[in-house]
Order: sequence, then C-alpha cells, then structure tokens
Amino acid sequence: MEKNINHDKNIRADHDNIGIRHGIDLSNLDNDVNPSENFYKYACGGWMKKHPLTAEYSRFGTFDLLRENAREQLKDLIINLEHNPDSKVKGTDAQKVCDLYRMGMDSERLNREGAAPLRPFIDKIMQSKPEDFTELLSWLHNGICNSFFATGVGADSKDSDRNIMHIGEAGLGLGDLDFYLEDNETNRKILSAYRTYVKRLMELIGYDERQSERVWNNVIFIETEFAKHKMTREQRRNPLARYNIRTLEQISLDYPNIDWKIYFERLGVTGLQEANVSSLGFMEFVNSFLPTLTWEQIKDYVLYEMVTDSSGVLSDDFHDANFEMFGRVMSGKEEPEPRWKRAMTIPNSMLGEAVGKLYVAKYFPDDNKAYMLTLVENLRMALALHIDNLTWMSDQTKAKAKDKLAAFSVKIGYPDKWKDYSEIDVDPNQSYLENVYKASVWYTQDNMRKLGKPVDKTEWHMTPQTVNAYYNPTSNEICFPAGILQPPYFDPTADDAQNYGAIGVVIGHEMTHGFDDQGRQFDKNGNLHNWWLPEDSERFNKLTEILVRQFDDVEVAPGVHANGTFTLGENIADQGGLRIALTAYLQSMKGKDLSEIDGFSAIQRFYLSYANVWAGNIRPEEIIVRTKTDPHSLGESRVNVTLRNISPFFETFDIKEGDKMYRPESERVIIW
Ligand SMILES: [Zn+2]
Repeated sequence: MEKNINHDKNIRADHDNIGIRHGIDLSNLDNDVNPSENFYKYACGGWMKKHPLTAEYSRFGTFDLLRENAREQLKDLIINLEHNPDSKVKGTDAQKVCDLYRMGMDSERLNREGAAPLRPFIDKIMQSKPEDFTELLSWLHNGICNSFFATGVGADSKDSDRNIMHIGEAGLGLGDLDFYLEDNETNRKILSAYRTYVKRLMELIGYDERQSERVWNNVIFIETEFAKHKMTREQRRNPLARYNIRTLEQISLDYPNIDWKIYFERLGVTGLQEANVSSLGFMEFVNSFLPTLTWEQIKDYVLYEMVTDSSGVLSDDFHDANFEMFGRVMSGKEEPEPRWKRAMTIPNSMLGEAVGKLYVAKYFPDDNKAYMLTLVENLRMALALHIDNLTWMSDQTKAKAKDKLAAFSVKIGYPDKWKDYSEIDVDPNQSYLENVYKASVWYTQDNMRKLGKPVDKTEWHMTPQTVNAYYNPTSNEICFPAGILQPPYFDPTADDAQNYGAIGVVIGHEMTHGFDDQGRQFDKNGNLHNWWLPEDSERFNKLTEILVRQFDDVEVAPGVHANGTFTLGENIADQGGLRIALTAYLQSMKGKDLSEIDGFSAIQRFYLSYANVWAGNIRPEEIIVRTKTDPHSLGESRVNVTLRNISPFFETFDIKEGDKMYRPESERVIIW
C-alpha cells in the first residue's frame, strides 16, 4: 500500500489550480442519433466517422489511437538514439536497440537471406532420432516454440511468495479450439486458408507439393486432437481447477512417455521436486497420444511450429504468407502494417524496459505520478464505500473485502528498478532470427532461474510504454504503465469529469478485477484461498448469472452471440470501474463547481467520456475472432450493456420506459 496518503479525507488532485479545463470533444458525438436509442452511437458516432478503418487495421479505437501515438513517439526515440555515441559501443542497451531495429528495417538483407537463417534449426529437427525426443522438446521449449505442452516458472497460487514450475497446455495455430471443432462456413474458410498457409511455409523452406501436403495433414491432425482435449475458455476461468501440485515422481508416473528428469535438466532446471499441472486432462491426453504418433508426424508438427513462430523475423515472403492468413483472412485487414512498425516490435519487446526508460524520460513527467496516486486513492475510498453499502454481502465478508482492498499495492508509470539486459547479446553479423532467438533463450532461462527464489513483487508485467493496465491476483497489485497515462485518458488539462470517466474508470476497472469471478478467489496476500461466507458466494454467483445472461443475449453478428461466461470478469470490472469512478468523482467535487460545460452536466460529461474510451470501428472478421479469443466484450457492449444496469445513467440522459436503451429496474444488476 502506498504510504503518506491520508485515507480519512478525500484528496483533491494537485492540478486544481490549473486555469482552463476543456470538456468533451464535441466532434466525437453523433447528434443524429438519440442517446436513448443507442448511447454508444450517439457518444462515439462522430469519432467513428473521423477515424475510418485504414487498410492495415482490423479494429481501430481510442486505445489504438493512443497506441499509434506511442509507436510514433517510440520510433522517434529509437531513431534519435542512433545519434547517441553509446549506440556505437558494443554491449550497451543503445547499441542493442539500434542494431535490432536496423536489422528489422534491412529488407534487402532479409530478402536476400530468405529461409537460410532457418537452416540450422531445420537441420536440428531433421537430424533428431526418436530416442532424442525429450532432448528435442526441451531444445524447442528453450526459446523456440511450445510444442505439445509448455513450462514456465511463476507464483504458486496458494503460496504466492513462492515461485514454482508450471506445466501447461500447448497453444493452437488458430488460437481457439472452436475453429477446429465447429463446422460452419466461416471456419471452413479459415481452415482452407490455414492449409494454404502451412503449405506455403513449407514451400518456402524447400518442400515439394507432396511433402507440404503431408506436413499440413499432420499439423491439422495433431492440432485438432489438441483442440478436443484442451480446457475451454470457460473452464480456464477456474483457478482452482488449474491448481494441481504434483511431485516430479508422480508426474513421471502419470505421464511416463516424457522423460521429465532429462527434459528439465536440458532446460537447466535441477533439483525440481514438484510442479503445478494446470491442465490434468490435457497432459493425460498428450501422454497417451505421443506413442500413437509416428516420428515423421512429430517432426512435421514441430517443424511447422518452429517455422511459423519465426515467420515474423524472416524475409518478406514469410511475412506475406503470415499476413495473408492471420491479417487478411482471420482479421479482415487489407494491408500489412509498414515495416518500421514491425521492426520496432522487436526491440520494444525484447529490450522493453530499455526503450521504456527513454519513453518515460520524455513523456511521463513526475507530476503525473503524484496526480495519478491521488486518483487511485480516491478510487480506493470509493470502492470501500461501495463495499460498505452492498446489500447482498454479510458484514463479515465485507470486512475481509475491505482488508483486501487496503492491501492492494499500486504501480504507476515505470518500475523503480530497471531490468538488466547485459546478458542479451545483439550481433549484426548474425542473422536477425539468430539474434531474436538468443534473446528468447535468455528470457526462458531468466524465467527458469526464478525457481526456488521468492517472487519478486517489484517486477513489472508490462513495459512502461504499454498502453494498458493490469491487476495481478497473486501479488494483489494494480499497475498503470506510463503509456496509458496519456491524453485523452489521462489529461491534467481536462475537466475532472472527463478524467474520472476515462482513467478513473480504468483504475476502478483494475481494482474491481480483484473482486471479479476469478480475482475474488484470491485473498489479500494473493493466495488462492476462500475468504467468503458460503451464502455470500452464492449471492455473488446468482447476481453474476444475470450479467452472464445479459451479455449472452447480445448478437454480435448474424447468429453469433457474445459469450457472457468468458467475458464475465471484464464485464464485472467495467461495471465496478464505472460506478466507483462516478462515486470518487462526486466525492472529489464536494463543494466544488459542478456546472455545465458545452451544455452538458458534469455527470453527462462523465458518461460521455467513458463511452469515448471505447469508441472504435471494427471489421466483421475481427468481431468473430475477438468473440472467440478476447475476454473483453466488444466496445459497443462495454458501453451499452454495462450502462443499462446503472440507474443514474438513465436519469442523467432522461431514458424512459419504451426507449431502446431502457432496462426495467427489476432486470438491472449491480455487483460492486
Ligand atoms: Zn480488465
């Protein structure tokens, strides 16, 4: 918990004395739409017209606009870094960032090299024999791809100060199991494009038609079997079902077709006693599936996995094949993004905090941190007030909920301690792929080295330049990187109603994640431990079932419905964030001027600002992909479905029975 903050009285933001504050951008509105018919279209219609989708985007909203601005800023920082003398000194962060960026931009060299950088990786797979299987697997898992299953070190959900080994499921090329298992026109189209993609990659590494067709058959067979045995989106939301600590001895008995001792040794892990097997059913399946596969099938599958995971850092023909499949067919994009954006992704992720250090120095003044802390504390007080006023929760559970809230730790802007990248080597004499691979091995090893050490709670799980925020249940922390603390979300020159409606709701959203369907199962110390009275849990579940149904009812495309269970946590967080932020805003404005600006009352401006956070355009293909893979609801539902539970919203915009936006009081549901 942050110190030196007085929790007894509401704190006003420091920027109170700034003279002029601007209100909502009126050009974001569409005055041809009645707010009582479709509030989202009314509040965001103007924005949507001003920002039509460009060819490289499948979805573009306020968040993406912020990301786009950040990318332009980061590009300038990286290009300017080349004038820094450090960039010529081998081993400095500046040298590594500049060289990685330059290698990504060097299309002439990338295209000349073609598939050649893959050769040593292909040879390694091809020369492996069945008796080398475990060795091959640990080599792949050490920075290349997670074939068959994945391993990694992370907090023990029931003893969150401790790092343990986790064994999880393999991923799927298409991201979600429905694409493999549900037979419909959209999925048939996607599978047909997937076949073209897999075969094209194989052709690019020199395979003939017959060999490419064989690889495709083996890949789709193996991935479809995985899809049948993976946890569903809904099952994955149950942290208890994913908590299965087993001794290494037991793991070796349960899944004897993998030599676990050798596997971990080759990954550099020694003395492992136990691990969490997050998906028992899947691991059981993999164990029984392995002996049924031929060596050729195994090699074809891992070869494809290795090539597809490398396709982003190879020549244009690899990238074009990848774009055709995942950009055009799956997401509806018309054009790939310009090369500089792709090139920037690599230093921006692999040396993320080195780039982040430059970013915060230029774009995150220290005053912002102080203002943000004030907002967070005001939100925290508002949530405590809401907990006090809940009618469905017992006093006993309320006290525990408030303990948990008080224990939240808060991260703002950038980490106190920066990551040390000195062991990452970037050498322009080696291929781009080889350099990215070396960094990836370093990350795997850096993760494995955490085993047996206490969890480092100062570590950040997003880079400072990320336009996003998170709640982490095992450390009970909320984190707001500098990237999201930018206009229009966070604008010290804006009207308070606008700031509370945007960044205020984002803060409240992350706080509410600590109390959503998953977060509520963790206690104030970040341990998976039930602190609820059974009758309170039961009432919580009853209320959330209503929210699930409201979202299940939304038809996102003809015949396709939103998934209320999959998006439940985010929908609870949106509602909580919105309600808490309004309370915090009104508390902070007590005795202050709540007069109209541009003809809108303070509360109207608050709701309009919230809606504008989710303003955006999206392609039909992307709607389908998001509905299957993104736990967040679509922008329009985040506004319209969420607001239709909130009574002050109806009053503020004079929405009455008979209006499309109206929901009778008896059908509304409030969680936090
Ligand atoms: Zn969220």
